Amino acid sequence: MLRTYCGSCHCGAIRFETDLDISAGTGKCNCTLCRKIRLWSVKASPAAFRVRAGEAALVDYQLNNPVAHHLFCGRCGVRPFERVDVPNMTGATYYNINIACLDDVDIEELMAAPVRYYDGLNDDWGSTPAETRHL
Ligand SMILES: [Zn+2]
Repeated sequence: MLRTYCGSCHCGAIRFETDLDISAGTGKCNCTLCRKIRLWSVKASPAAFRVRAGEAALVDYQLNNPVAHHLFCGRCGVRPFERVDVPNMTGATYYNINIACLDDVDIEELMAAPVRYYDGLNDDWGSTPAETRHL
């Protein structure tokens, strides 16, 4: 069910709002970054995502993919969301919302959420990694 959630970083400098259907699916990836930050994410379109505060506190961390913006709070270091610009596999800009940064989500809702695993480590996003228990 589509619902509007409020989210934030740890210090509260960054606050956002997003319309999500968590029951439609969430994702975890085994790439070098996701593994270290243990990112559990859900996708949101730009139309379903609004930064409410702290845009100026966001620091952009980029790896070798020029369209992937691994944003984090310059004050507390928490990563409330990422932005992926085009060109990408979906053909549209999207946000990866960090589920751990949603402030008003139900634990039961999270437990029921389907998780899809991506083999980002091998750049094989359509495949499930052989091992996922550490993610
Ligand atoms: Zn912060």
